[in-house]
Amino acid sequence: MTLSLPFDNSYARLPDRLFTRQAPVPVARPGWIAFNEGLARELGLDAEALRSDAALGMFAGNALPEGAEPIAQLYAGHQFGSWNPQLGDGRQILLGEVVGKDGLRRDIALKGSGRTPYSRMGDGRAWLGPVIREYIMSEAMHAMGVPTTRALAAVTTGEEVIRETALPGAILTRVAQSHIRVGTFQVLAAREDHEGLRALADYTMARHYPEAASVPEMLAQMVARQADLIAQWMSLGFIHGVMNTDNVSIAGETIDYGPCAFMDDYHPARVFSSIDAHGRYAYGNQPQVALWNIAQFATALVPLMPDQQRAVDDFTAIINRFADLYQEAWLARFGAKLGLADPAPEDRALIEGLLTAMTRDGTDFTNGFRALAEDAPERTGADAGWIADWRARGPKPDIARAANPVVVPRLHRIEAVIAAAVAGDLAPFHEMLGVVTRPFDPDPAHLAPYAAPPESDEKVDKTYCGT
Ligand code: AMP
Ligand code: MG
Repeated sequence: MTLSLPFDNSYARLPDRLFTRQAPVPVARPGWIAFNEGLARELGLDAEALRSDAALGMFAGNALPEGAEPIAQLYAGHQFGSWNPQLGDGRQILLGEVVGKDGLRRDIALKGSGRTPYSRMGDGRAWLGPVIREYIMSEAMHAMGVPTTRALAAVTTGEEVIRETALPGAILTRVAQSHIRVGTFQVLAAREDHEGLRALADYTMARHYPEAASVPEMLAQMVARQADLIAQWMSLGFIHGVMNTDNVSIAGETIDYGPCAFMDDYHPARVFSSIDAHGRYAYGNQPQVALWNIAQFATALVPLMPDQQRAVDDFTAIINRFADLYQEAWLARFGAKLGLADPAPEDRALIEGLLTAMTRDGTDFTNGFRALAEDAPERTGADAGWIADWRARGPKPDIARAANPVVVPRLHRIEAVIAAAVAGDLAPFHEMLGVVTRPFDPDPAHLAPYAAPPESDEKVDKTYCGT
């Protein structure tokens, strides 16, 4: 039986130099890891039909659903600051787009679905570890209210992929507001394909910035979305790990969960990614890097403007608003974490004071802030003077409870879940997924092991792209 999804594939109607038509490469023996029924319903899809064997075949890339127009998208990007003139979907196929119950259009894509013309030296595949990591991380981020791509399904392929060793292959079905990246604009600008660039800009405005009447307005709104997104990451101790321009979604979602992690003990210079030798994407650098990435986006937009010298000046002014927008968003987010109903600029010092104490004490980021929601400020590592100042501001526990999750998907826990999955046991994955998708649920019984920071012998301090 062929599955039918209510696809409407607008990206595939763009100029065909923006993508390559390419079907997923079939796999040997598909097997279920997970299916996200709640998300299927939000997308207006038939959740029952998506549990069938036919759906398993679709999520594995073995059978195309009716209405799909599979494509691999073209993009380029700055990777760790170095320009790479062509990247593109080397291991992902966009099946098509659906319009959800909320009226928003979303991409449904298979990640790990085989080679494409953009695969370069890669095998086009993913192994089980990164698929499980992205499933857990993206669904937890969503549950904490952070704009993010989602996970609709994950399957095993019954094939091995070779990384350092042979590992079980897997495919993630990723749902995104789109996969348009800063690098998608960059590749067209670099090729001086102004017609393509215009088509992409018009398309992006219609799809993601319908309120923007012009390219500068789109840029201004993109800046605002990035400022709020990065402030949210910072407020959760989230480190993306690979903020290359090809990993920045124009729609403002967190995308491409590679070597990402939530911090345990707080330090502003924390880095996890094994390949980030100079800490370019360290926790505390994320706002500056976001700004740098936005500047690359603006640069790619300049050829669209009639007066380019003027455009550079105008865009510079727009981009320079990022600092203030980010500071405002940061104050709102961290103010709420302190339980403040109406954080004011003077509260910045109070927040910074706590972060300084947490750095000195190596306080666990998640549990330290959660302690404020539980009226246990002594557990933050702050001294009596800070606690008195905080109390004098009249913090509200309900505000702090809503801003400070009890659990985040901690790295050592994810690693343990992946190890179990590789050994054939998916139960720990499902248990952890259940916990981290209810991050504000203070049920101590099921949470305790997930809320605890790693013991010294459990600590994981490196993440690998290992895709
Ligand atoms: P990432 O660092 O994961 O964002 O990926 C950077 C680029 O490498 C993108 O163009 C990916 O499509 C490509 N890529 C990553 N892993 C693979 C793989 N296993 N096979 C082919 N291309 C890949
Ligand atoms: Mg990427």
